[in-house]
Amino acid sequence: MTDNKQKKKAQEAIEKEENERKESLIRLLVKMREDIIKEAKREIKKFKDGEKKQIVETVMDDGDMSLVDLAEDISLKQLSAHRERLIKIDEAIRKINENTYGWCEDCGDEISVERLKIIPFATHCRDCQEKKEILDKIRQSED
Ligand SMILES: [Zn+2]
Repeated sequence: MTDNKQKKKAQEAIEKEENERKESLIRLLVKMREDIIKEAKREIKKFKDGEKKQIVETVMDDGDMSLVDLAEDISLKQLSAHRERLIKIDEAIRKINENTYGWCEDCGDEISVERLKIIPFATHCRDCQEKKEILDKIRQSED
């Protein structure tokens, strides 16, 4: 085999490995996405069946609001944490496909592999995330 062919083969092996890594990452994210949706559905069901049913029925008596509207409205608030995560997961999948995954949105540094293992949809490195959380807290206390 010539040097060039060998180089090409090595390159292909790297690409293959990279693609496999991407695919398993996407599989992991899709699984997380499904779990969140399942959990969210459970919460909506609990809400519909549970203690707050009374409120739903009271509002329904008004006739202005359909049960679906109300459930959606409340679930949107209650489930906003889930929604945020779903958005982040979608974003991560998009980034994987665009080859921009794993880079901090603020400083542009590489997000550590350890961090991505724990939070596969992290958009910021740990330093920037911590700064962001401190700023968020300050902003909240100013409100
Ligand atoms: Zn950063």
